[in-house]
Amino acid sequence: MKVIKNASQMQKIALKHIRDGDEIGLVPTMGALHEGHISLIAKSVKNDDITIVSIFINPVQFGPNEDYLKYPRPAKKDKEICKKNHVDYVFMPSVNDMLPADHKTFVEVKTLQDILCGSFRINHFRGVATVVAKLFNISCADRAYFGMKDFQQLRIIEKMGKDLNFKTKIIPCSIVRERNGLALSSRNSYLSAEGKKRSLNISKTLKEAVEDFKRKDLNFVRKTVVNKLKKIPGSEIDYTEIVNFDDLSPADKNTKKAVFAVAVWIGKIRLIDNIVMIKDKGR
Ligand code: AMP
Repeated sequence: MKVIKNASQMQKIALKHIRDGDEIGLVPTMGALHEGHISLIAKSVKNDDITIVSIFINPVQFGPNEDYLKYPRPAKKDKEICKKNHVDYVFMPSVNDMLPADHKTFVEVKTLQDILCGSFRINHFRGVATVVAKLFNISCADRAYFGMKDFQQLRIIEKMGKDLNFKTKIIPCSIVRERNGLALSSRNSYLSAEGKKRSLNISKTLKEAVEDFKRKDLNFVRKTVVNKLKKIPGSEIDYTEIVNFDDLSPADKNTKKAVFAVAVWIGKIRLIDNIVMIKDKGR
């Protein structure tokens, strides 16, 4: 496994692999790798000749009062995890290399970037889309792996890929959860033992909504979730939305496959989670 710190060097290596007929898989991450990331890596290692894991804490996707500076950076451990999981290249560029002071070009995915998390984290998805577009070009990836944990991000990147004719195929990957249901996230390390206990109610509540959605109307499903989330001590809801699975448009009574997406503060920690919900046949 090689660690590459420079974008043009990474691109040169990737182009050589393409010339040699290799297919390249990219797993974009911000590091602090956990089993969720490892599940994406495993898919790439299985599908692709070459697996590149990028580790880049992207400053332009963080708001001014967000956790950019305190985001965990366990670089040594991350490299060990990549090596153990048969990654070929870890791409760890500097901020200056990816976003030099004279960087002027940004990618926006209109409408999709402004809903759900986008209405609370202004410019977040513009920052994500810009850096992912750069990573696609640098890595020359045939396939890129994204977790459904960040469901809105997944749909935004798919739309960007289609609209801008990227050759990179987007592969969605299921959410990896702890046995107790908590969706794995690098930010879980911020949670105290008590905070973690409280946050388990988020996934539990969503799981119960899946059953309700099969038979009950949307208002009931949503209200039940809101009431349960409000009861978590120290919780504050950013949003609780039921959207269509394919395009994140608001769900209505005809929606057969939906995603229930939530963002909830537990104390000072903001957690996102979502679950896919499918109507009973005949309803
Ligand atoms: P991050 O490092 O948080 O930016 O995440 C990098 C990639 O890993 C994104 O595509 C995430 O959706 C994905 N990911 C993060 N947590 C999970 C999880 N628990 N299960 C599956 N994928 C995940």
